[in-house]
Amino acid sequence: MATFLIYDRDNTHVDPVKDLRGCYKLGDIVEVFDDDRQPPLAIPQPPPFWVVKITGITKAQADQFIAAHISDPVTCPRCDGTGIDPTPVNGESVPCHQCRGVGTVTTRLRRRLYCLDWVNLPVEVQTALTTTRYYETTFALARHMVRNKATGATV
Ligand SMILES: [Zn+2]
Repeated sequence: MATFLIYDRDNTHVDPVKDLRGCYKLGDIVEVFDDDRQPPLAIPQPPPFWVVKITGITKAQADQFIAAHISDPVTCPRCDGTGIDPTPVNGESVPCHQCRGVGTVTTRLRRRLYCLDWVNLPVEVQTALTTTRYYETTFALARHMVRNKATGATV
């Protein structure tokens, strides 16, 4: 069992890159609590949070839903993909510090990759969240309510 803390609105920033990369959006899963380990979360939570308790899910399964949306790897601009620092301090061959010697880098595109698919939620779920700020369900049902923002698919 796990408890999801979910954002109930869109935060915004005037810079469109920072808006996606840094702002929680409606339905974003902000934090996951393992009910076996964490003290119980106060229910209801004040805005901007909803609480959704999910049974039949492991902490490891739950944790994937708070991942950021990370870009595909691209060639490291500092070392041009060699993984070797182009300007080492003392002339020695050392790993590039920007890519840690890997030759590629990624960037965070969105604060969260997954979100509760608010517009497609069953009406009873929307009603429960707007009136009590709380909903309880199973992972088998909840997974159809969570959307991957990159693919658009539910999980
Ligand atoms: Zn590099």
